[in-house]
Amino acid sequence: MKAIVVGSGAGGATAARELQSRGFDVLILEAGSPFKPFTRHISWAEPLRRFGLLGGEGNFRHLFPSMDIQRSSPELILVRGITTGGSTVLSCGNLVRADQGLEEIGLDLTPEYDELEGELNPAIIPPDTWRPVTRDMFQSAEDLGLNPKLTPKIVNKDKCNYCGLCELGCSRGARWDSRKFLNEAVQKGAALKSRAPVEKVITEKGRVTGVVTRDHKQYHADVVVLSAGGVGTAQILKKSELGAEDHLWADIVLTLGGVLPGALQLEEPPMAWYTKEEDYILSPYLDILSHHFHKPWRNVPLQDRVGLMVKLADTEEGVVFADGKVEKHLTAHDKERLDQAISQAREVMEGAGVGDPLVRGVHNGGHLGGTVPLKKEDICEMRPSWLPEGLWVADLSLVPHSQGLPTILLTAALALRVARNIPGNF
Ligand SMILES: Cc1cc2nc3c(=O)[nH]c(=O)nc-3n(C[C@H](O)[C@H](O)[C@H](O)COP(=O)(O)OP(=O)(O)OC[C@H]3O[C@@H](n4cnc5c(N)ncnc54)[C@H](O)[C@@H]3O)c2cc1C
Repeated sequence: MKAIVVGSGAGGATAARELQSRGFDVLILEAGSPFKPFTRHISWAEPLRRFGLLGGEGNFRHLFPSMDIQRSSPELILVRGITTGGSTVLSCGNLVRADQGLEEIGLDLTPEYDELEGELNPAIIPPDTWRPVTRDMFQSAEDLGLNPKLTPKIVNKDKCNYCGLCELGCSRGARWDSRKFLNEAVQKGAALKSRAPVEKVITEKGRVTGVVTRDHKQYHADVVVLSAGGVGTAQILKKSELGAEDHLWADIVLTLGGVLPGALQLEEPPMAWYTKEEDYILSPYLDILSHHFHKPWRNVPLQDRVGLMVKLADTEEGVVFADGKVEKHLTAHDKERLDQAISQAREVMEGAGVGDPLVRGVHNGGHLGGTVPLKKEDICEMRPSWLPEGLWVADLSLVPHSQGLPTILLTAALALRVARNIPGNF
């Protein structure tokens, strides 16, 4: 039995490994090139940055091609990994359970969460190794009654050198990413073809029988699993004239930047702790995108910059087009919630002695989901009922609601459930 898995991120790698171990002959088609972490020291960019010579955030792609950045509206940037490992190679290594909106559709992923956590073994970054400013902000959050918690991380403390640049890829292999599952799938016999962007699926007599890549090559299989992420999967479905829902969510990140001379916040893993409100979290984070490309942040040198991130569960409104372009704006509700969260972040920073000017960074989102949402009636099969036979989705597109929380575990758990359902429903 042949299966094609499109994409090799949190969803694709998990599904591919599972299908291969269940006896399928798996071909993984990945749009990007094999991942290479960014290895230049970040300080080389400081002089250029100070004089505004780095240009816009779009230029980052020339330095680090695995990171795809697109503006979905004047006020919002979307970020994703187009490479082996997908967005997981850009992750901060946080691993938490997120289940916003799953109960409503009757989906309980507890068994998959237990299983994956057992395998990945998340652990905290010990507080005595944090930068003093991170400890002071934790204390300030505690004093404000925000109940901060230590973030479970899939970072091997013995290998990590505290460079703070998880999002540019971990050159020491300390932070888990989905290439681990991908390699295991390949070791078990799966074939991986990188630089193979899938354009559309092939449908014959109402059944999906394969895919066509951008270079017009056709690949045939009994089962096709789309795991190209909230944007990529919707793009393929729209190009195939099957449609996708215009409900893209992104978990919007907005970092409040302040100043503390000699803070050296980048010399530790990002997001060591977090506070949780109903629809957002706060977490210490020096936003590299804002530091390098956001004009209002330009005057503060890297060693003095301190950031506290808001990650908001945003309104599920966003359109992916068949050419991969996205239109998504901040809604009035998003803006109102961000204002509330930022004022809380300001209090935490002020309480920790982080000084003015406290300036907002760029709005960005990298948890891309919601474009092929599961509904109650889909949970038994784990497959949106309107998809043609032979076609499955196993990525964050399936999740109807934004989370405001890290989403790797959620995506991998879903993909595991989907992949396990394929043989029985085939
Ligand atoms: C900067 C950043 C930091 C993050 N940090 C964390 C974190 O610390 N913890 C956490 O839990 N979550 C984090 N996330 C979110 C998390 O990485 C994603 O939610 C998760 O990876 C989504 O999985 P996915 O399989 O849906 O998509 P992805 O992991 O993005 O995988 C999609 C795959 O499809 C491929 N693809 C796309 N289009 C095509 C096509 N047409 N043909 C073939 N292949 C295609 C891509 O190259 C990619 O390999 C972060 C995200 C970003 C951007």
